[in-house]
Amino acid sequence: MKVYAEKLVETLVDKICDVCEQSVMIEVNKHKYEECGELKASFGYGSKEDGKVYQLDLCESCFKTALCALRDQRKMEFMFDEAKDLLGEKFGLVSDSFMIEQEEIIEKEKGSAKSILSDVKINENVSGDESLQDSIDEDLSTK
Ligand SMILES: [Zn+2]
Repeated sequence: MKVYAEKLVETLVDKICDVCEQSVMIEVNKHKYEECGELKASFGYGSKEDGKVYQLDLCESCFKTALCALRDQRKMEFMFDEAKDLLGEKFGLVSDSFMIEQEEIIEKEKGSAKSILSDVKINENVSGDESLQDSIDEDLSTK
């Protein structure tokens, strides 16, 4: 016996920047997209911050502010070290074509799905009124 009851489920509907308290959700064509940066750290034994865990959600603007502050700090640290690459605008940048890479992955997966589907043979001899068992029996007898 199955017993049913209504259940409340929490759903994320918005995310707020921990610095400026603006939403990090951007609406494009009635779809909400989360454009959020994150600063996080957890420190362990041997650290002055032992046991402390930090996590900040940042909007694009506040993330850039933090990034620029860290980039400036790096410039100060290595100001007189000519051998050190200060990276400039590329500091912290892992990819500048993230969406293009995601689209390429999706297109590649679409292609492999099409090739899998092209290998699937449809038995066109089965008419609508034949049962599934008939078509299985027919398929076995041909082998
Ligand atoms: Zn912000």
